[in-house]
Amino acid sequence: MIEALYIHIPFCRHICAYCDFAKVMTGSFSHEKYLNVLLSEIEDLKIPDDSLKTIYIGGGTPSELSYEELDMLLSYLHSHFPSVEEFTMECNPESLNEEKVSLMKETGINRVSLGVQTRDESILRILNRSHNNFDVDRALSLLKEKGIDNINLDFIYGLPSSSSKTLEEDLEYVKNSGCKHVSFYSLQIEEGTLLYNQNYQGLSEDEYREQYDFIKERLKEMGYLRYEVSNFSLPGYESKHNLTYWHDLQYYAAGLGAASYIGKERRINTKSMTSYLKKEFHPKLDILTPEDEEMEYLMLNLRLVSGFSLQEYENRFQKDFLSSYQTQIKKVQDYVQVKNGYFSLKEEYIYTMDSILLDLIS
Ligand code: SF4
Repeated sequence: MIEALYIHIPFCRHICAYCDFAKVMTGSFSHEKYLNVLLSEIEDLKIPDDSLKTIYIGGGTPSELSYEELDMLLSYLHSHFPSVEEFTMECNPESLNEEKVSLMKETGINRVSLGVQTRDESILRILNRSHNNFDVDRALSLLKEKGIDNINLDFIYGLPSSSSKTLEEDLEYVKNSGCKHVSFYSLQIEEGTLLYNQNYQGLSEDEYREQYDFIKERLKEMGYLRYEVSNFSLPGYESKHNLTYWHDLQYYAAGLGAASYIGKERRINTKSMTSYLKKEFHPKLDILTPEDEEMEYLMLNLRLVSGFSLQEYENRFQKDFLSSYQTQIKKVQDYVQVKNGYFSLKEEYIYTMDSILLDLIS
């Protein structure tokens, strides 16, 4: 049974300098028309009643919808999927207000992922973000006041003009915020983004590594457990929805550019809003071979500090992992471990997992 649904809301007030997500400027297309197509796409998925455990509304900027638009979306989801246990919405601080947060609470949103990126306002301007520190403080108070206290703060490290002082201040903010979850992603310079066009070179490998290690150590001191390469939480507050991806379980998805995994099929909807509004979803379709499925399972699960259960692997692929991969495991034996029936990378090597995985699956 599929237990997770991802929904994409592509509207953004500004286009951030590093962003290559599927998005359009707020108001450049009819929000109402988009929501109508989106809801009919969800209807067509024919999701069985009471099957969903998690919904994640991402973007773009879901909180950029007006109160009425948000009501249309959230009321539909709340009434159709009452069994949902974790209901997350991504929000940008500047687009939240008291009315929207009350509505979110009433319609079952119980987890918010807030885009902070950094507390250094001069860097926020370089990134073309449209919020400032006051917006973040106000959004956090509002969410807590209305009873939504399962909050993730989203940060980026390796930013232009950042220094160890920037990280110190970002981490100090996390410490004082009392938030249950925090993500620190490294800045990626993707083709077509403003930073790419400005020929921004980013940090060296060693500098990224240094910043990452600093973040990881400080968060550990504060009681945040790293459970995935870039994700840290207080005990019991790991993102259930995102664990669906890393455990390589199936999920539905709807919206512009949204990616789903159903049966053996991975689909990605069109990123053209004009096509999407005509219900021409033109999904890019990958049908997984048994080998693809196994590779994906390993690559995703080994992002997790816990790794994967050898028994679960055997149930899914009908073979014993340790004997099937005996030769490859020998090549990477210094970096991996078997503990309590789980196979995982040793903690200190999770950051450099790509090269280890390559040896393991080749
Ligand atoms: S708000 Fe998010 S989705 Fe929108 S442009 Fe910025 S990074 Fe991209």
